[in-house]
Amino acid sequence: MLYTIHRLEIRRLNLLAQRAKNHGGREVCGLLLNLSGPALTFFVLRNESPQAGTFCIGSRAIEGLEAFCLQRGGRIVAAFHSHPISEASPGDRDVANAFYNSHALIYDVIGKEARVWCKAESGVREVEAQVNVDPDLRGYELA
Ligand SMILES: [Zn+2]
Repeated sequence: MLYTIHRLEIRRLNLLAQRAKNHGGREVCGLLLNLSGPALTFFVLRNESPQAGTFCIGSRAIEGLEAFCLQRGGRIVAAFHSHPISEASPGDRDVANAFYNSHALIYDVIGKEARVWCKAESGVREVEAQVNVDPDLRGYELA
């Protein structure tokens, strides 16, 4: 399915990620939901990590969101988090922990760039972003 992320969602992510960065280099994190049609929504969850430049999402928060999606016929497509001072590619800790449903979106606060990654047994690869006819929408093909 070809999912789309509206530019207003990316703008909202930028504001939240910038705010987190300004609070001691913290990261914003959460899950990317598909609740209707092809649109994806960033659902921000509490970053439970006390350290700057890291994030941790509690399992209870994830379970609650899974139940929410199940009730509404939606699904969780990927996890997301921001990088306050580095590019939007996964580090070793991200490869181990930052994926949901084999997908992770990473947002680079400085470069204002969102990149989607897919993890498989063969390794981690970037998911090609496809720009739709509508210039306001960016599409992501996720398996
Ligand atoms: Zn990361």
